[in-house]
Amino acid sequence: MRLQMIDPNLNFKCNSCTKCCDQPWRTVIEPEKVSALDQTDWEADFPALRGRELYRTVRIGGKTVHELGKGEGNRCVFLDTDGLCMIHKKLGYEAKPLMCRQFPFFAASTWDGDYVSANFGCPTIQRREGPPAAKQADEIAAVVPLSSVAYKPDAPLPLTPNLLIPQSAARELRQLLTAIFNDDPNSTLSEQFALALTAFEKAIATPPEELEQHIACGALAAELNPGPLEPFASACDAPMQSRFLFAATLFPDTLPIDSTADLGFFRRMTLIPKLMTLAKMRGVYASRLLDGNVKVNELLDRPADLRLTPEAVPLLRRYLRSRLWQQFPSGTLLPIFSGFHQHILDFNAIMFFARARCLEKDKAEADLSTVEHAVRLVEFHLANQQRLYTQVLKGWFRNALGSLPLAWCSLRMMRCAPSTVPANA
Ligand code: SF4
Repeated sequence: MRLQMIDPNLNFKCNSCTKCCDQPWRTVIEPEKVSALDQTDWEADFPALRGRELYRTVRIGGKTVHELGKGEGNRCVFLDTDGLCMIHKKLGYEAKPLMCRQFPFFAASTWDGDYVSANFGCPTIQRREGPPAAKQADEIAAVVPLSSVAYKPDAPLPLTPNLLIPQSAARELRQLLTAIFNDDPNSTLSEQFALALTAFEKAIATPPEELEQHIACGALAAELNPGPLEPFASACDAPMQSRFLFAATLFPDTLPIDSTADLGFFRRMTLIPKLMTLAKMRGVYASRLLDGNVKVNELLDRPADLRLTPEAVPLLRRYLRSRLWQQFPSGTLLPIFSGFHQHILDFNAIMFFARARCLEKDKAEADLSTVEHAVRLVEFHLANQQRLYTQVLKGWFRNALGSLPLAWCSLRMMRCAPSTVPANA
């Protein structure tokens, strides 16, 4: 299937902000480009590269790959002080790693085929700056290949770890979920999440062979009446399992820069006590992303709502709509419902970071720039990194993320409330 846009409303024009050159993931460079790096006298033009490791060769999943070195912190070693790429300056655009030429676009495999998606950490994707991506389709297609995941049009899809549904029913469900996260200014995101969870509840209870028709004729939508959602007075009141899931989502924030990539078995085992401590949601941890100590209970042990200004909400809805159906990156590799549960947890992480920023700046409400920053932290540092559910306690995560009651508890841990200031004030 040829690539199609997962979000038809994307716009893009790179403004050279360099945020994507200062992130924790590996920048893999193709083997044929590495020899050009070797043959270039970098120090003549860029003395700052003297003594620097330009790239390293590592084994990932049994394959040998080359990744560009890092300068200070997460910065790419080839990022010049003027914000431009030294490889681009010296050897031209074509010499850059493919993933740099693609960014922020990538081939996203979804439950029903190949799409192009975009990283919502990029500021121009967040703000919809530049021409529509649809008008740049040829340029994007030239650098974004089809994903390598085989698409099987007739294969049933996992709604939960134990329940398969026909693909036609899954597509109906996707349309329903996308419609739920609409731009209605009278609905809050919490209400939309509650509606979506109720839709999952009904879908799981419907015989798989009847599900497509049940959604298509509007019967399932007509049954949706979640009632008011009462958040926990404190996130600490949530059951331990829910807190553990949230702690696992937030966990990369507690690790130093180099430790978020592939962890060995014994290293992973040592993480569990640390995770348990975070799951208590008390005390202080050193946050890598917020660059300081975070008092967890100050953020979570209070009536759990965060007010969002009206400008901040559409970004979150677009982000959610683009992620609902996407498997990876930024989506999940989980069954459809478990993936949705992880999206609730990612959303909670966005709220957590936004609230931390509000406390730091003494702001009563999270405005657009606060939410943009929080989405970037989650996109760059949590959602696109190794997830703990793929590394440790896999059986436990499988059951917990697939649990409807726990998903409701995850939703009740954080609430985003509408602004008290009218949109046009
Ligand atoms: S984050 Fe986006 S706008 Fe900034 S340099 Fe990267 S692609 Fe360009």
